[in-house]
Amino acid sequence: MPFQQFSFHPKVVAGINALGYTTPTPIQAQAIPKIMAGHDLMGLAQTGTGKTAAFALPILHRLMQGPRKQVRALVIAPTRELAEQINDAMLELGQQTRLKSITVYGGVNVNPQIEKLKNGVEIVVACPGRLLDHINQGTIDLTNLELLVLDEADQMFDMGFLPDIRRILKHLPAQRQTMLFSATMPAEIRGLAREILRDPATVQV
Ligand code: AMP
Repeated sequence: MPFQQFSFHPKVVAGINALGYTTPTPIQAQAIPKIMAGHDLMGLAQTGTGKTAAFALPILHRLMQGPRKQVRALVIAPTRELAEQINDAMLELGQQTRLKSITVYGGVNVNPQIEKLKNGVEIVVACPGRLLDHINQGTIDLTNLELLVLDEADQMFDMGFLPDIRRILKHLPAQRQTMLFSATMPAEIRGLAREILRDPATVQV
């Protein structure tokens, strides 16, 4: 089945075509309809399966409706490299959407991040520590957040980020759609999923 089955916004279809994607990968075929229907999602998938586009495409589609210049989607990733990859995918798939996506992570000057946040973005791809700094400093407004993705959750657990994740979650609107992706399902991630996902659909590849 081709991508047409999902009825994405034409500007999102343009991004899919620009990247030359013709057929959804198995995780995309399973996850995209669930996400577009508004379900929370538990995704068991490794890197290389197309999991980034599985959440990026429905997010871009959703954000084509509604206000701009507010952080409406937040993706949390364990490493800067992954955050950059996810941001690149958002920008490439969203090249016709005029949606703005930025990365937020530590080890680099905070001022350009603050400047971009002030100017208004719809998508933030963040690592936990620096995101928490922005929250504590009041330099990010997450009151309009609609969509949250925790990517490579098992990796975030291994790196000791779960306490930061829980602190971040306290600052997010309870009314939101949450997607959690993990390659493995240790007890800690199962517990986190139980805490933060509401009646989730589970997809596995
Ligand atoms: P990921 O697992 O998200 O890191 O994606 C792995 C690679 O597959 C990336 O280079 C994507 O650009 C590519 N990719 C994702 N979805 C598709 C698709 N439906 N068709 C072709 N390539 C894809």
